[in-house]
This record gives sequence, C-alpha cells and structure tokens, in this order.
Amino acid sequence: MSAVVIILYENADPARVRAELTARGIWTSPLTAAGGVAALAVEPYSAAADPAELAAIPGVRQVLEETTGHPLLRNMPRDYSLGEVRIGGGGAPLVMAGPCSAETPELVMEAAQRLAAMGVQVLRGGAYKPRTNPHSFQGHGPRALQWLRDAADRHGLKLITETMGEDSVSPVAEAADIIQIGSRNMYNHDLLRRVGKTGKPVLLKRGVSATIEEWMGSAETLLLAGAPFVLFCERGIRGYDAHTRNFLDLGSVALLRRVHGLPVAVDPSHAAGRRDLIPPLSLAAAAAGACALLIETHPSPGMALSDGPQALPLEELSQVIRQIRRLAPLFPDESAGRDGHGR
Ligand code: PEP
Ligand code: MN
Repeated sequence: MSAVVIILYENADPARVRAELTARGIWTSPLTAAGGVAALAVEPYSAAADPAELAAIPGVRQVLEETTGHPLLRNMPRDYSLGEVRIGGGGAPLVMAGPCSAETPELVMEAAQRLAAMGVQVLRGGAYKPRTNPHSFQGHGPRALQWLRDAADRHGLKLITETMGEDSVSPVAEAADIIQIGSRNMYNHDLLRRVGKTGKPVLLKRGVSATIEEWMGSAETLLLAGAPFVLFCERGIRGYDAHTRNFLDLGSVALLRRVHGLPVAVDPSHAAGRRDLIPPLSLAAAAAGACALLIETHPSPGMALSDGPQALPLEELSQVIRQIRRLAPLFPDESAGRDGHGR
C-alpha cells in the first residue's frame, strides 16, 4: 500500500505546515522523531494534490510517495558522529569490542586499556545479560555499568551496552554512548519506545527468527520514539546446523547496506559461537558491507563467565583489525545513491 509522507525541515513549524495543508483539504498525522515532528503522514481520505505544489510549502523538505512503511528510516542520516567516532559511512568497519559481560572492574579496565592500545574506539560489555538458562550468570547490573563507564572514560573509549527491560533503560542511557537492543528484545516495541525516548543512538540486533521487514519495523519504532540513529546488527539467525551457534545471514547485510543504503553491523561472535570463525567472518562481513563489527574478546577466554568459547583472545583481535584495515580499500562505501532506502 502506498501513502504520501511529507518530510519537514528541522526548523519547520509543523503547526503552520499542517494549517497550509488543511486549507487544501489535506489531513495529516505527525510522525515524531528526535527533536520533534519530523514528518507528516497524509491521511488517505485527503484531497488529491500535486506533490510539487506541496513541496513548495515553506518548511517542507520533501514529499515522498511512501511504499516501504518506514519513512523515518528512509530519511535517517546514513552516519552518526559520537565526538571523533563515526558510525556508518565508508572505510574500515568500526570495531566495538570487549567481554560478553562485565565480570569484575579489573577485567573491564584491563580489556579497555588493551583495546584502546590497539586502536579500538568503542568498548562493549554487558551489565544485564539475557541468558537462555536462568541459572547462568545474569550480569552484575548497575555496578557493572559504572565499571564499564569508568574504564571507557579512563581509556578514551565510547561505550555500548545492552538494556534488557524498562527498569534498566535509564541507568543504561546514563552510562552508555550507544544503547544495545539484544536479539531477544527486537520485538519488544514497548522497550523500543522507551529506548527511543532517551535520544541515544541504538544498535538493534536482529531477532533469531526476524524477517528483514520486522527488523526494519523495529527500527522505525525507535526512530518514531526519538532515537536519532539506528545501527542494524546482524548476529545470526536460527539455523538447523549445530556446528555454528547461529546462521550468519550475510545476505541481509548486503541488502541493507548496498540496496537500502542503511548502516549495518555484524556480530560474528554470537553468529558463530566459536572463536576460530571470527576472523574469517569479520572479513566476510566487511566485504558484504558491514560498517561496524561487534566482537567479544576476553583477556583470559578460558575463565569467562559467559560465552567463553566465542571470546577471541585480544592478540587475535588485533590481527583481525590489521587485516580489515589493509583490505578496507576493497570495500568502498556503496550505500549512497542506491534505491530503496538509499539516497
Ligand atoms: C550480547 O551481545 O551480549 C548478546 C547477548 O547478544 P545477542 O542479543 O545477539 O544474543
Ligand atoms: Mn555474549
């Protein structure tokens, strides 16, 4: 089904634009994003209008015949800057690395120090851990957020960490630079709305059985609630072969990036579930169009309280980073100018 969506300039006065439209018999409902109303969706019972005439109304940036159902995603910026750190765009993928869970302050500090030394810019680590078995280690909660923030600050890193439920949204938003939505929560639209309202950029993992349409729908919910930027993250979907933990769908990565022009990361750790596959999958992800890699690493993988088998020793991570940088010129940014969500 197609609909018309009117995209506004940031400094537009939505009430005035709506008044102009109403005078022409065009009824709209506002679509909010970070900073207020970003667009107006034209109701189907409105009078017919010439798109060029609507585009001439002061405050209107663009009039789109919307067929995707994701107007905000379609108009989302393709990259996002966190200070010096750029997410999205071309060049070698941004590496976000760290332990699966923040186990102790010492572990987090050591990881941050060694990661910063090898040029990593974003620290990952879980304070709240979504585990399949309730008897497994569940994370240290709020105090682990503090360990992560302290370590990131001490070593000049940005921090990405996961919120799992509405109670942890505020503390996570306070501590983190990027909020992670885990695979198990991709469908939780109430949580997505809460996270969107914080105004923080979000890494949105794909649910294990989610279609790309459902994944994009979740991103649209985040943007509608106020998130300024959504980085998709393919972390493997449910497969039928137990030799790898999940099935890494690189087709989704190529589709999102190279067809729709959307920013997408790959998490080879949860996809493979085994550390020996992380280097080749990281290179494959970069070739498919990943603009970021989310990699689990640990100073002593054998001692990890969660996901030890997939934790890449820090020395091996540094080799992966060198290889990716060397090959980066082979993987240009082809997101611009593509059709679909591309611009
Ligand atoms: C994680 O990144 O720590 C995690 C739990 O991942 P996923 O949601 O992909 O299982
Ligand atoms: Mn993990």
